[in-house]
Amino acid sequence: MLAPSSLKGFYASSIPIGSDNKWIVAVIEGDVLVPSHNSLGPTSVAINSAQADGLKFFRERSLCIGQWQGIDCEVWELIPEAALSDGFVRVELRSLLAQSGDAEFSLTCRALQLLDWQAKHKFCGACGGPNQASETEHAFQCDPCDIRQYPRISPCVIVAVVKDDKCLFARHPNWPENRFSTLAGFIEAGESAEQALHREVFEEVGIEIENIRYVGSQAWPYPGQLMLGYIADAKTDNITIDGVEIAEANWHRYDKLPEVIAPPTIMAGRLIEQFVLESKAKYD
Ligand SMILES: [Zn+2]
Repeated sequence: MLAPSSLKGFYASSIPIGSDNKWIVAVIEGDVLVPSHNSLGPTSVAINSAQADGLKFFRERSLCIGQWQGIDCEVWELIPEAALSDGFVRVELRSLLAQSGDAEFSLTCRALQLLDWQAKHKFCGACGGPNQASETEHAFQCDPCDIRQYPRISPCVIVAVVKDDKCLFARHPNWPENRFSTLAGFIEAGESAEQALHREVFEEVGIEIENIRYVGSQAWPYPGQLMLGYIADAKTDNITIDGVEIAEANWHRYDKLPEVIAPPTIMAGRLIEQFVLESKAKYD
């Protein structure tokens, strides 16, 4: 199946099209194995079939994750010894995502999320009996209970809170002293995304918000989050941190951002980039 051009070649599917060549995302214990001399660029996560041939020996599981650039794409879970293979280097997922383009980001998140989901849903939550994997889609079925389970996705909100030419940056207690980001939290059962935004921002920094604008969304594989990104205006600028989830929070002008912030490839960085662009247009 051809992907709409807006998907940049990425098409999430559980059914292979049977292409001769294949892309392989090679995973070892949550890290990704990438070619050490990468002709496709330093951030490329997918290996072609010929390159991956030598890794077959180490393969424990494989799953079709869809198509990329019109070619079937699989995730392979490999035993740790595969990291010693010539021509490959093991890369930590988080650093890989920070450098990836949209399509490869999605591919990698999907690969990791599906592996994690399969590993943790082997048994039916109602009767405790073994689940059977569906052959037609990524789903687990318990026949006696007639329950079908799909990969679990947990929606989260992430928001750049803005007051005029400043944006609120917060530091989590276990982060380094100079690392700051936007606020984020899980959507509670029964909440809308907007309700979660009002609640999270008020809980974490004691600020009420208004004029919420949706920016975009992004999968985040820790283990199955979907980040919904927003910009919102603060009604007041008086910060009261909760001291539990947030250790420190400050306002930063668009031309004096904190030293260490997320890159624009991930949602927090994209929101910050958008805030800077909007502020420059208004205040420069
Ligand atoms: Zn059951």
